[in-house]
Amino acid sequence: MYPNLLVKRVSLTPNRIALRFNEKAWTFEQLSDEVDEFAEKLYTKGIKFGMRIAILASSDAQLVIAIHGCIQLGCELVMLNERLTEEELRYQLLDSNADYLLVDSVEKRSLTFPNRLSFELLNLVERTTFEVEKEWPKNRTITIMYTSGTTGHPKGVRQSLENHVMNATGSALNLGVQPNDCWLCTVPLFHISGFSILMRSVLYGMTVNLHTKFDAEKAVEEIMSGTVTRMSVVAVTLERMISVLEERNISFPNTFQSMLVGGGPVPLNYLERAIQRNIPVLQTYGMTETASQTTTLSSEDAIRKLGSAGKPLFFADVRINGAEKIGEICIKGPHVTMGYVGAAELKNPLVDGWLHTGDMGYIDEEGYLFVVDRRSDLIISGGENIYPAEVEQALVKHSAVKEAGVVGKQDDKWGQVPVAFIVLKEEVSEEALKAFMKTEMASYKQPVIYYFMEQLPRNASNKLMRRELFKYVQEMK
Ligand code: ATP
Ligand code: MG
Repeated sequence: MYPNLLVKRVSLTPNRIALRFNEKAWTFEQLSDEVDEFAEKLYTKGIKFGMRIAILASSDAQLVIAIHGCIQLGCELVMLNERLTEEELRYQLLDSNADYLLVDSVEKRSLTFPNRLSFELLNLVERTTFEVEKEWPKNRTITIMYTSGTTGHPKGVRQSLENHVMNATGSALNLGVQPNDCWLCTVPLFHISGFSILMRSVLYGMTVNLHTKFDAEKAVEEIMSGTVTRMSVVAVTLERMISVLEERNISFPNTFQSMLVGGGPVPLNYLERAIQRNIPVLQTYGMTETASQTTTLSSEDAIRKLGSAGKPLFFADVRINGAEKIGEICIKGPHVTMGYVGAAELKNPLVDGWLHTGDMGYIDEEGYLFVVDRRSDLIISGGENIYPAEVEQALVKHSAVKEAGVVGKQDDKWGQVPVAFIVLKEEVSEEALKAFMKTEMASYKQPVIYYFMEQLPRNASNKLMRRELFKYVQEMK
């Protein structure tokens, strides 16, 4: 058993600031009072212990209160991504077998559901007290979170109390915890990157400074003001913040301690530029199935091990499956999911206690993990392995290339050959790109065809969907 996290936190540091949103701040005690009120109103409306509650809402203070409110009632939260289409949301509602759908605003959300409640309606409801649990079982499901759907249908991942607690603890043992810590959260709360910040806040007694959306200028200003110590970003948002610093020719103050960057590959060029602007970037490798980080590069190693996702956090273990240097990354530890729900339930991701991630990578002689690419995207050409991410990274080095996506095309002679999809910053010919690539990589890795596009297909998490490119190539035949 673990203690009821919020109750325990209030008993330890009631007057510390838990949350800042817009101009308002809540201490842990104030937050907890509002959480209790919300939970008691849910209780009045018939929401009971153990029910599955799907939430569709924007990241704001009310959502933070609703999340904690549901957890206080012992409910399982299905975190819906507000960027999905109605059809995709409906799939997740049915797949997760949710009992209720909670929306922030009826006006804003057209998604219908038999048991639907809104924050507005709950505001009008009377409170009914219930007995708050002092302890929670470790294996209780706190959240059901859908994967990004980059490689197929999104899978509903069960994240237990222990998964969240051990993840936050592992992260703290790596980054350290200071009394003045404040995490700037501009990543969505429905995604594990944002949700894990709420968990850390309650466990560490740390302030969350919440922004509804990422705005590079606003984020830079918060950090420059000296109140923020940590932040989580993905490659694209990191690049936008670096650009703001470069345009103004400023660097981050030393009050800022760590910038976690993960969710996908990060171009080396971004990492180098970040270091020049005094941004302590820590590359991290995580996934929905591991309730956020599994490995993180410590700041001491940021330059020496540029490009690595670091070492496994304290409780985590990583091994590479297979006889070759590069193999499938497998993960073990108390932060790893017990499994999926719904359609993916039978797809047990664990083999002998190890999570088979579908990601390819290697561990160097000093024990540092390098994530190479997704196994499903590997191109085999004339018996040689080509990792599309490596080719994409080389392409974006060209000054005219903004974004690149690489997939394999069927080929009678070689089995498969790489082809490239390019979004340009400025005009450049295919011949010029081909000549550039000749200087960058071995000939079998060089794309044989270049398709120029306005934009690349990306999912709601902004991740490149190579399977869409692959379909395109097949149709071109
Ligand atoms: P789906 O499982 O539905 O295909 P997804 O895997 O993109 O979607 P997430 O759980 O949001 O869903 O993302 C986790 C994945 O993101 C990892 O498995 C990995 O492929 C990628 N990723 C995360 N961190 C890194 C990193 N540092 N370097 C490279 N890839 C990363
Ligand atoms: Mg995945």
